[in-house]
Amino acid sequence: MHKITLIPGDGVGPEITEAARRVLEATGVSFTWDIQDAGEDVFRKEGNPLPDRVLESIKKNKVALKGPITTPVGSGFRSVNVLLRQSLDLYCCLRPCKTYKGARSRFDNVDLVIVRENTEDLYAGIEYQKESEGAKTLIEFIGNTTGKRVRQDSGISIKPISVYATERIMRFAFEYARKNKRKKVTAVHKANIMKYSDGLFLETARNVAQKYPDIEFEDKIIDNMCMQLVQKPEIYDMLVLPNLYGDVVSDLAAGLIGGLGLAPGANIGDEFAVFEATHGSAPKYKGLNKINPMAMILSGGLMLRHLGEMEAAVRLDDAIVSVIKEGKIVTYDMKPSPDDPTAASTSEVADAIISRMI
Ligand code: NAD
Repeated sequence: MHKITLIPGDGVGPEITEAARRVLEATGVSFTWDIQDAGEDVFRKEGNPLPDRVLESIKKNKVALKGPITTPVGSGFRSVNVLLRQSLDLYCCLRPCKTYKGARSRFDNVDLVIVRENTEDLYAGIEYQKESEGAKTLIEFIGNTTGKRVRQDSGISIKPISVYATERIMRFAFEYARKNKRKKVTAVHKANIMKYSDGLFLETARNVAQKYPDIEFEDKIIDNMCMQLVQKPEIYDMLVLPNLYGDVVSDLAAGLIGGLGLAPGANIGDEFAVFEATHGSAPKYKGLNKINPMAMILSGGLMLRHLGEMEAAVRLDDAIVSVIKEGKIVTYDMKPSPDDPTAASTSEVADAIISRMI
């Protein structure tokens, strides 16, 4: 029996987490779910979008399955997703992206694992609002120490990248490569421009790579990487990226395999792990029973592997592969046109996957 914290999230979160929960239970693995609400509605009710009870539950159970949570743009509360990753030190965001036969994509040969550093970079949350005391002090400090002029009406976000965090994300990637028989790790950066942050990332990555001579290592500049990914994704295997590039490239990779509806993810630390799809809360689809639950269900598959339930994970994957290959009971995003009248609903897709596991 696995006790799992289940965070339905907001937007389409509740409908896709319910689909994932039903499919996971149908594998025959037994779960008890500790359901913990977080996000927009909780912010309205409790004044905090991520109450302590949610973190306490994950700390107790060690593993969570989480639906997406909306982040208001520009104002309101800070990202619950980022806070969760930082509070639990979930330093690795693991996002496998591979093409499934039958999925509508320009490529049929993508098999990438994206390893995104999850705790620092421009996501560190160190920001100074335009004209705040902090921004004024910083602008003055920069002027005094570098002679460079930052405009007085600037908002400022800080980009810290450390040896500590880069070493552990690189080690994670190489260990994953060894365990999962992957052949090549590519570190992605902009070290030519940001010498002290991305430069340090690259130098540290090279140092760690020396300890893994059995795995091929190379590096690529982020802009070149993006172009190469859309031209020849098949030559890449595992990509390791600082936080912001990792976020952007994860969506790019999702696009290579047929969209966000198929891109699963896991946030992993040394003590805890939170499994969630790459996509967000897609608010315009909330409550319509329309969105693709596969990314969330595949994230559940990653959770099964993390829990050591390998046989159930393989059965779940096989069932999903079979539903995609047949192409009948799939949501609108996997049909030739988004208004295809034969598109299945979220819950119908879950039912179809369940029916193929029996
Ligand atoms: P999004 O990923 O929610 O959706 C963008 C579009 O992609 C949708 O409108 C839809 O057309 C498509 N899409 C996404 N998921 C899909 C699925 N499962 N099936 C079919 N189509 C799908 O991105 P957004 O609109 O930029 O973000 C909405 C909110 O989600 C924002 O508040 C954002 O901050 C938040 N967000 C949360 C997480 C998270 O919880 N980890 C991640 C990303 C974004």
